Amino acid sequence: MSSAGPKQQRMDQFVAAHRERGLPITAQRRVLYEAIMDRTDHPTAEQVYSAVRELLPQTSRMTVHRILGTLVSLGLVAKTCHPGSAARFDPKVRQHHHLVCVSCGRIEDVEDPRLDRIPRPRVNPRNFQIEDYCVHFRGRCSDCAPPRPARRRAPATRRRAAGR
Ligand SMILES: [Zn+2]
Ligand SMILES: [Zn+2]
Repeated sequence: MSSAGPKQQRMDQFVAAHRERGLPITAQRRVLYEAIMDRTDHPTAEQVYSAVRELLPQTSRMTVHRILGTLVSLGLVAKTCHPGSAARFDPKVRQHHHLVCVSCGRIEDVEDPRLDRIPRPRVNPRNFQIEDYCVHFRGRCSDCAPPRPARRRAPATRRRAAGR
């Protein structure tokens, strides 16, 4: 057999995380994790629910919410939210950042090592323990941004034309 692919590694992590906590690996948990593990669109619970329903039609919405909560507490899925929108679920749990479209709600991953080295604010007087952080850049995605003007002409020509 060839070495385990990334998918298999993730399933191994899934199994290990359950074993550590002594939690049973139910078909629903497995199907839900498989349904979310390759997604990069940061689905809502509702979107995860419809994906799971296609494979296990008897699954209830409540069950999906409960399993998502469990996977978050096991560190297998991250929960991300920004003001005024539903919680979104992210199978990428290592530190990364987001481009959030304020118009359609699309969330895209962004990775830049500089963003992982932001100095922590001094919050000692409040006795707040910072664990991690995620930067959300808000703006408009390529579908929502107004179309950019056509490619600029050579500036020299322009200046001459304007000076007449
Ligand atoms: Zn958008
Ligand atoms: Zn993400």
